[in-house]
Amino acid sequence: MSRRSARNGTGSGSSAGAGNPASALAGQRPAWLINGTMLQLLASAGAGRAQPWHWRLLDRRDGRELASWQRAPSLLALGQCVPRAAWPELSRWLHMPGTVRPDQGPLPWTLPAATLRAALRERARWLRQSLALPLPESESESESESDSESGAYRLPLCDEPPMLRQCGHDLAGRPLWLTAAAGRAWQAMRAAAAADGLALLPVSAYRSIDYQAGLVARKQARGLSTETILRYSALPGHSEHHLGTVIDLHAGNGPALEESFQKSDAFPWLQQHAGRFGFVLSYGRDNPWGIGYEPWHWRFLPAGAQL
Ligand SMILES: [Zn+2]
Repeated sequence: MSRRSARNGTGSGSSAGAGNPASALAGQRPAWLINGTMLQLLASAGAGRAQPWHWRLLDRRDGRELASWQRAPSLLALGQCVPRAAWPELSRWLHMPGTVRPDQGPLPWTLPAATLRAALRERARWLRQSLALPLPESESESESESDSESGAYRLPLCDEPPMLRQCGHDLAGRPLWLTAAAGRAWQAMRAAAAADGLALLPVSAYRSIDYQAGLVARKQARGLSTETILRYSALPGHSEHHLGTVIDLHAGNGPALEESFQKSDAFPWLQQHAGRFGFVLSYGRDNPWGIGYEPWHWRFLPAGAQL
């Protein structure tokens, strides 16, 4: 079940994809994704002044829609349509004083980052176990595991943010989710590139741990070895794409997510200018993480931000 349910987990490959109300009006008002440990609440532009926002409650494990509303739902309304197992999560939302503002726009609830982090680390651990990934657990509460004693897996844990904002669409027409700060930086960088006559096209941004688990599961199903899979895909819980601050880019011609991206006009432009917008290349050649060279993968990490 885990493999199947992980397949459509909300990420840039989410079921919240092209054709939903968020897509239709994305240029006017950004959609918001409020991230939970079992649930995700999607607020997108609605049908007009009388219905300014459209709300959808998703099961984050498989992207299934549990309910939708034309007005911000009350917690009571939410409670009536979520699985019993998700009630404690709603109760956490309920007990956040001052944040429940159902009629004041699209941001009524978010979970505290620490709550979300602890629960999703637990879920990532479970996903890795269910995929029989034979790697040592290295996640302590410390922020970096790059020096774990066994040294078997070097990518640090990456946590999902409590809230994401839609920044247009990716190349496949799916909503592109980033944190608000990363989204602003991305839009500024893209505009600057366009002013220089270069197209920067987004291939992928935020991906959930569930989506990542589905990715790994599909590669396992094709018979690839764990070693091969992990050369190009992070373990669920360890992908920088979970952070909502990473974007994979394409230059408009040639294949996507290939090393040939470095021969595009966009790559030298990025090398010269991306830093100005707070973006850095995560995986250069012979990087210490043991990840293949990824000239397309850029992370918003402004100076002074913690790794
Ligand atoms: Zn990437």
